[in-house]
Amino acid sequence: MIIQEGIVLRERLVGEHDKFIDVLTKNSGIIEITAKGAGKIGGKSRSSAQLFAYSKFCMNKKGNRYYLNSAEPIHIFYGLRDSLQKIALASYFSEVLTYCIDEDCGSEDVMRLVLNTFHYLESGKREPEMLKAIFELRLMAEIGFMPDIVGCRMCGVYEPETLYFSEKSSCFYCEDCFSDAVDKGYTKIKLPVLSALRHIVLADFNRLFNFRISDSAMLTLSAITENYLIEHLERRFQTLNYYKDIRKIYE
Ligand SMILES: [Zn+2]
Repeated sequence: MIIQEGIVLRERLVGEHDKFIDVLTKNSGIIEITAKGAGKIGGKSRSSAQLFAYSKFCMNKKGNRYYLNSAEPIHIFYGLRDSLQKIALASYFSEVLTYCIDEDCGSEDVMRLVLNTFHYLESGKREPEMLKAIFELRLMAEIGFMPDIVGCRMCGVYEPETLYFSEKSSCFYCEDCFSDAVDKGYTKIKLPVLSALRHIVLADFNRLFNFRISDSAMLTLSAITENYLIEHLERRFQTLNYYKDIRKIYE
């Protein structure tokens, strides 16, 4: 018997009563579990195997497949269903994770990032746009795409007022060193956005969600982290388009 804590990121009904669920775990990355009877009303694992449930799963493994034996809910993120915006953003996070976290790529930090992000999204204690920026960039840093933002790539200056950041090259140049000849595709940003980028990749988890930035800087930050993720994963996400459509309604 294998016991793992994990969060359900995707579910697919199979037949009338059974489900395949993709579960992010701390030790084994994302695993697909066959959950017999979990789609049935009154089924014993129905709530703990539903989308966005964080549960303790007891499984058997046969060959490469996991079969759910029983599951006990730890926290079910019901609050994510409060609004379309929350569901859309959580679905985007889930699509990104199922794309870039493989089986056997377990990470305690990725798990913490996901649980914390879902917690703040559910409680509404942080703005969705801030959570999106934190999730996108911190996830990239955790899985090996850490940007080089210690200083200007040319002169090393640490806190330039204005700078040019490249999602593709993962670095920045200060205004003095930057020339248009360097490359197209650099975004001109101000120091507060750089400070936020640094905070997101470097802060401990207990401080990660605590920073302040103006609304306009937040929009720039969110655009940069999004481009950064798309650039490095080399892929676009349908759920992101959906989130953006929903976001317009809330503006
Ligand atoms: Zn410089």
